[in-house]
Amino acid sequence: NENQKKLLTIIAKESNRLIELVNSSLDLSKMEAGMMVFHFSPADITPLIHKALEEIEPLAMAKKVHLEVERQERPPIVKMDQEKILQVLRNFIGNAIKFTFEGGAVKIWVRSEGGKLRVSVQDTGPGISKENLTAIFEKFQQDTLASSRHMKGTGLGLAIAKQIITAHGGKVWAESELGQGSSFIFVLPA
Ligand code: ADP
Repeated sequence: NENQKKLLTIIAKESNRLIELVNSSLDLSKMEAGMMVFHFSPADITPLIHKALEEIEPLAMAKKVHLEVERQERPPIVKMDQEKILQVLRNFIGNAIKFTFEGGAVKIWVRSEGGKLRVSVQDTGPGISKENLTAIFEKFQQDTLASSRHMKGTGLGLAIAKQIITAHGGKVWAESELGQGSSFIFVLPA
């Protein structure tokens, strides 16, 4: 009956959340132990961005968040593990939509910076306090302002993103002004 269906939907959703939590936790432990295998090859990031956007579009539409990509004609080809970089894009874009207010916007910038690849995901969310800009990249660290409205996260996504970008010899950081949105940026070497 209807009530049983409702309960089963909740159970399925919560099971998926647990699977994601276990997988994230295993991923991070493996990377911290230096046991994660990366498969590097020269690649264009454009198809990965499109894939991430395609997956996340229904969520953005449901929240009425405008998604936009601003990229150079030919972003630099850099060595990357495409599956892992896709994981970072999913985390950045997913967070940007999650923390952005209804009717807000998320913009992805892709460009070359002295031959390096620079990707930035900018949102119109609540922003992050200065003292937490670095801490949120540590596991289980969540900024109280944004997270008080969204208790559901694991606090592992950005720690995993940091491990992945560092394994590529790249850099990752966040920039924000409280109340003015946030930008999450990574740079991959040529
Ligand atoms: P989760 O989103 O599961 O909590 P993450 O590691 O991806 O874990 O993010 C850690 C914390 O960083 C979040 O809980 C939130 O406090 C903060 N954060 C991440 N992205 C954003 C964003 N776009 N805007 C505001 N805060 C953010």
